[in-house]
Amino acid sequence: MKLPHFDYQAPASLDEAVALLVAGDGGARPLAGGQSFVPIMAFRLAEPSMLVDLRKIPGLDQIEIGDEGVRIGAMVRWRDLLDDARLASALPLLPAAIDHVAHYQIRNRGTVGGSLAHADPAAEMPTIALTCDAVIDVIGSKGKRSIPAADLFTGPLMTSLDSDEIITSVLLPAWPASRRWGFQEFSRRRGDFALAGIAVFYDEDASGVVANAHIGAISVGDTPLRLSKAEAALNGRKIDEATLAEVAAVASGEVDPNGDIHASARYRKALVGTLLSRALSAAANRKA
Ligand SMILES: Cc1cc2nc3c(=O)[nH]c(=O)nc-3n(C[C@H](O)[C@H](O)[C@H](O)COP(=O)(O)OP(=O)(O)OC[C@H]3O[C@@H](n4cnc5c(N)ncnc54)[C@H](O)[C@@H]3O)c2cc1C
Repeated sequence: MKLPHFDYQAPASLDEAVALLVAGDGGARPLAGGQSFVPIMAFRLAEPSMLVDLRKIPGLDQIEIGDEGVRIGAMVRWRDLLDDARLASALPLLPAAIDHVAHYQIRNRGTVGGSLAHADPAAEMPTIALTCDAVIDVIGSKGKRSIPAADLFTGPLMTSLDSDEIITSVLLPAWPASRRWGFQEFSRRRGDFALAGIAVFYDEDASGVVANAHIGAISVGDTPLRLSKAEAALNGRKIDEATLAEVAAVASGEVDPNGDIHASARYRKALVGTLLSRALSAAANRKA
């Protein structure tokens, strides 16, 4: 289908981009790689008066790794993340999850900021941001602010961003080298959106007792989810068969997914338990 008519601007600075969004009065929208928004326009689910292309704005495509953690610029593409060998030690959960995002063509254009702003509960990056307690930096007509991931995702494809706000980067807090983690998702074909997915990490003491459990779930709610009941059930336990079974059952019971043409609600609930059990096994068996 042909795209609806729209004006197009490619500003050279964030200030200019914000000014264009303000002038658009809710009708102008940022454009990153177009990998979600252009199909949405083609289906006439959005008809913006103007697209404000962020690609010419310098400084949004950097990955910085420092004491506070991994800061990823909004225009960093999936391909950039997968090509950055530093992430395998700094934040291994991230490349493991992003390796499931879409296909080569989409990975070459789709961006981290675009995915966070698009807020698809079936996408990997929003759930990773939520699971890792990430903080999203934005700029708008009222200035800059930092939004905890838990406050960004408000509904299906909905965020707490104002219409003139642009995501500039996301900070994923630093990880201790000893942290244990796992990522599992299931989709009908490699590169398809997940029918369900689980991201998990935890720390453990010298005797293997779990603390600081973080569990995120993909594609089983209106937003990316944290499974707080399963986290509570995991903390204070050692990973063994009984723990895996109990925590998986808690996680399955905690989600209330919708069914669709791809999978029933019941199947998705069962997947959550199975994937969490596998992710925890992988975490426990991975060499620290
Ligand atoms: C066939 C196909 C399969 C896919 N499979 C997957 C998958 O398995 N997993 C997955 O996670 N994704 C998948 N995607 C989506 C893909 O990852 C997109 O890259 C991602 O959704 C973001 O796209 P984009 O960066 O091109 O943003 P765009 O499409 O340009 O923008 C998306 C939205 O974000 C807004 N936006 C963009 N940048 C900013 C910013 N910096 N600040 C504020 N608002 C902004 C736009 O206005 C728009 O509303 C798939 C896409 C396709 C077409």
